[in-house]
Amino acid sequence: MANLLNVDDALRAILDRIQALPAETIPTTQGLKRVLAEAITAETDLPPFASSSMDGYAVRYSDAAAAHADQPVQLTVIEDIPAGRVAAYPVGPMQAARIMTGAPLPDGADAVIPVEETDDEWLADGGAAPPEKVSIYRAARPGENVRPIGEDVHHGQMILQAGTVLRPQDIGMLISLGRAEILVIRQPRVVILSTGDELVDVGEPLGPGKIYNSNSYVLEGLITMLGGIAIRLPTARDTLDDVRRCLAEALAQQPDLIVSSAGVSVGVHDVVRTVVEELGHVELWRVNLRPGKPLAFGQVQQIPFFGLPGNPVSAMVTFDVFVRPTLLQMSGQPAKSTPPMTAAVVGEALRSDGRRSYLRVKLRDENGQLVAYLTGTQSSGALLSMVLADGLLIVPEGMTHVPAGTKLPVRVL
Ligand code: AMP
Ligand code: MG
Repeated sequence: MANLLNVDDALRAILDRIQALPAETIPTTQGLKRVLAEAITAETDLPPFASSSMDGYAVRYSDAAAAHADQPVQLTVIEDIPAGRVAAYPVGPMQAARIMTGAPLPDGADAVIPVEETDDEWLADGGAAPPEKVSIYRAARPGENVRPIGEDVHHGQMILQAGTVLRPQDIGMLISLGRAEILVIRQPRVVILSTGDELVDVGEPLGPGKIYNSNSYVLEGLITMLGGIAIRLPTARDTLDDVRRCLAEALAQQPDLIVSSAGVSVGVHDVVRTVVEELGHVELWRVNLRPGKPLAFGQVQQIPFFGLPGNPVSAMVTFDVFVRPTLLQMSGQPAKSTPPMTAAVVGEALRSDGRRSYLRVKLRDENGQLVAYLTGTQSSGALLSMVLADGLLIVPEGMTHVPAGTKLPVRVL
């Protein structure tokens, strides 16, 4: 194992060569899941004016200070203020204005009495026009049922940091602040190549010795879920010419990253590496992990290139360990932003070969403790082991015997 590269060292070497993509301006309404490239500071107060938080009557609290159900205080109603309209008159002593939720509080008023605490029957009779007088049944505290200006956000407040992946509530906040456009990191364009004479595209009949090309679609899904733009090319045959043609097609897509699966190993028909080296530079690394030992990384005309193993589980694990942080770093997020992790004790004794192993496990809660069980065969070609998995149990380098009950980290899927 002397010449196997440590996983963390390999990842560090890769990330040293990856730059964040430039920013672009987009409509805020299209910003979901995009990565902010600017810090957002509020340029206004929210709410922008003091408003009522209830349907009722805006009053001067001191007028209603003595109000009680047995001894109501009667006020003169001077106007009706629906949401979206500004009051025409200030509220004077012994006056009230009917007001709806979200309407601006009129000058002079400093509290809102909910309609239920008055003799107004609008809830029953529809209340097209306000009554001339209203009886208040309850005392008000100053500021009661009033949303003060800037209660939510004050002018100048820092709201979102650069690097934030925008969620629906973030979009809502930007729009509330009146931001029609935002600066975000450009989405990485990732071309997916797959090679193999055995591969058939889904929907086509399978001849003898053939299998369906599943990796392309798995990679497309993984890239899309990380916010990238995945561009899948048709499968290349295992010939120099076909792989050359495919790589030219890949470069024509102006990608930020090229990810290929299969054909980078040391088999006689593994021609991808040869072709990539004609136009760029590849290093084939034997990395100290299982599954996924052979990993190619390099550049083709300045574009980073990953050659992942062809076995479906190896392709997924190496994507998670190496390509995922690469895409995060490209899109302006901390590459270190760890995937969801937990810890679990192993439910059965396990063996490992001393490489860092990513075992596919199901997690069960047993008496408040998370226990990990293997999802059947752990062959690097057994995609069902991923389908059934809740997580990848990480057995560290050098640990060959894992007794039942050992606590280990789990990458939650
Ligand atoms: P290779 O890296 O070309 O030696 O391929 C290793 C294994 O992965 C072989 O069993 C291939 O048939 C399988 N494989 C390669 N590419 C794909 C793919 N796109 N989808 C599913 N399996 C694949
Ligand atoms: Mg092959």
